[in-house]
Amino acid sequence: MKRSHSTRFIDIDTQHCEACWDCIDVCPTQVLGKVEVLWHRHVRIDHAEACNGCKKCVRACQHGAITYTYTPVPREQRHRSGDGTTTPRP
Ligand code: SF4
Ligand code: SF4
Repeated sequence: MKRSHSTRFIDIDTQHCEACWDCIDVCPTQVLGKVEVLWHRHVRIDHAEACNGCKKCVRACQHGAITYTYTPVPREQRHRSGDGTTTPRP
């Protein structure tokens, strides 16, 4: 089964993951999980929708395996919908 290595906010490069699990320990919303099959060990995304972009995992990783990728949509490129929320223009 193919699994994503990214959420709306972060991207994980599993090639650089040393399976120390520090990022899992600091994540407040249990986004991250483990792949542990013999010599195949690295972090994975279990609940991407729960990621709030807090960056705790990015700061915890000493191996540069997690990158913060979120780019906010500039104000002028948003439009306001009827319910008061803003969404990017297509
Ligand atoms: S950015 Fe925060 S919520 Fe998202 S995976 Fe990292 S520690 Fe968890
Ligand atoms: S902190 Fe970095 S090296 Fe450690 S498990 Fe997480 S992604 Fe892998």
